[in-house]
Amino acid sequence: MKEPSRKAASQIIEVKLCPYCHFPNKPKDTYCKYCETPLVEAKPGLTQLIKNFLKDRQELITNHLSIFLGLLFVGIALYLLFKNSPPGLP
Ligand SMILES: [Zn+2]
Repeated sequence: MKEPSRKAASQIIEVKLCPYCHFPNKPKDTYCKYCETPLVEAKPGLTQLIKNFLKDRQELITNHLSIFLGLLFVGIALYLLFKNSPPGLP
């Protein structure tokens, strides 16, 4: 059994990990493909920090919003169900 091509193996190793999200980028990349943090700088820029902060918050808000909308939808559905049911029926 011969080893699989060494080129492929080296290509996997030769990645530039994003300092912020640890996404494996190509060595030639100057910006992270995932979070767009500049890979040249050691620390992500302030705008990038704010961006990521908002991104995290957005996910939280979206999750809460989906739960809220789900409950709201159920509430409206129940309201319409009882409202439209003819009187006299349980
Ligand atoms: Zn990144």
